[in-house]
Amino acid sequence: MDLFDGVPATQLMEAGQGISYDDFIVLPGHIDFHHQEVDLKTQVTRRISLGLPFVSSPMDTVTEHEMAIKLALLGGLGVVHYNNSISEQAEEIRKVKRYENGFITDPIVLGPNATLADVDAIKSRYGFSGIPITEDGAARGKLIGIVTNRDTEFEPDRSKLIREVMTSELVTGQAGISLSEANDLLRRSKKGKLPLLDSEGCLVSLISRRDLLKNRDYPDSVKNERKQLRVGAAVSTRDEDRERVTALVEAGVDMIVIDAAQGDSIYELKMLEWIKGEHAEVDIMGGNVVTRAQCARLIAAGADGLRIGMGPGSICTTQGTMAVGRAQATAVYNSACLARDHGVPILADGGISQIGHIAKALGLGASAVMMGWMFAGTEESPGDYFYDNGIRLKSYRGMASLEAMAAGGDKRYMTRADDRKVKVAQGVSGSVLDKGPLDLYVPYLVQGLRQSLQDMGVRGITHLHTALIDESLRFERRSHAAQIEGGVHGLHSYKDAGQA
Ligand code: GDP
Ligand code: 5GP
Repeated sequence: MDLFDGVPATQLMEAGQGISYDDFIVLPGHIDFHHQEVDLKTQVTRRISLGLPFVSSPMDTVTEHEMAIKLALLGGLGVVHYNNSISEQAEEIRKVKRYENGFITDPIVLGPNATLADVDAIKSRYGFSGIPITEDGAARGKLIGIVTNRDTEFEPDRSKLIREVMTSELVTGQAGISLSEANDLLRRSKKGKLPLLDSEGCLVSLISRRDLLKNRDYPDSVKNERKQLRVGAAVSTRDEDRERVTALVEAGVDMIVIDAAQGDSIYELKMLEWIKGEHAEVDIMGGNVVTRAQCARLIAAGADGLRIGMGPGSICTTQGTMAVGRAQATAVYNSACLARDHGVPILADGGISQIGHIAKALGLGASAVMMGWMFAGTEESPGDYFYDNGIRLKSYRGMASLEAMAAGGDKRYMTRADDRKVKVAQGVSGSVLDKGPLDLYVPYLVQGLRQSLQDMGVRGITHLHTALIDESLRFERRSHAAQIEGGVHGLHSYKDAGQA
């Protein structure tokens, strides 16, 4: 007798009716492994791999450098929003890139006649105060000393010259040694910094003890070949944002997300082709799209990843206002079918409000999920906490809410400046509960997701996709009654600890 229950995804997704994550369920598989063995490594674009399938939305209440840094440390990726000036957005990228390093090849240096106030200014801008001192203050000048916190912290007179406080007995290494040799030297020296010098004694690079610790504490962080954290940034489809792209690339961005609510436009195709031509080194995420034909056009234009979703976002009113969009599970499945043949990963964007939704998006072929609501209200999201009736909250708003549009967020929805006189909101602004720090929250998501994949009987995202394609992963539509049955029911009252 045929032991396959339920239906394969092709049948679940029979044309004609769009379904969302809650409309179906995945049938359990056979468990012969521990959930800790479930491998959540994945690709977000052709060239960028992640340790976890989590990407944060480019929204001004979700992703700036703090979110991007912590998410990359933990294995995911942040996409910095562009509801800001070009220099502000580039500065956010720079902060992520400076946060962790292998060799710091462009260390900030000072000359001996600079003052402690100059050190303070560097500390407040970049967060570090270990500064090599070169004879003439030039980046590649002859190294004559170093100042660290210990030289400066108890000195009340901030106009004092650095030459009077710097440490001149230095442990240094020779430029050209490998990173692991340099790290060994640093460990043995017990110092905080190891400057690497050329044969003339000029500064070439620096390594920091802090980076060894970060590496130890966050072994799964997502980094480039220079050991800097990876980060994405969003831009609009407008020609004027070409300048923004160039500034972001100069700041070291790894992935550009071309952000448009309806990404299948000549504006986006032109932007995509331009970035491909000018900045072949960055990966480009095209979107947002929801149909096979849309995906095909963006892939043909060179997209390295696709962002899928039109209208499922928690703060979004697009489908009602515009009458256009697609139910998210159907959109993810169809896009994944098309993109798979071209080796292009897809990112399921919006509509995720519990761990099960993440698992379902991956089970329909997404390689990663983009989340706004799930990351809003964490300590690392921009904005201050406030209290409402004793409950600790943070703001969360759609980028097409009237509030965000007033601050520049409408670039995603309209293509020309003169269109902006009349504003049609496609999102709302509101607030969400405090979700605490990502250091606690992300492990909760990871543990839940691992257990979910374990229940499906798959050992990781790659296996999940194999099971989707060979049809061993089985699904079932849920009737309205089944959905009620699958939720909590019949209690007089209860506390919901299951949802984030
Ligand atoms: P410090 O002791 O005050 O220099 O700072 P920490 O050791 O606490 O932090 C140094 C961190 O900043 C490391 O992760 C470095 O990779 C990073 N960093 C990035 N760029 C620079 C730089 O130009 N100079 C220094 N000192 N650190 C940098
Ligand atoms: P969430 O995770 O909150 O369900 O959805 C976040 C996603 O909603 C974002 O990544 C973005 O694609 C989309 N989004 C952000 N702001 C708006 C908006 O104002 N209107 C619409 N239609 N979508 C939005």
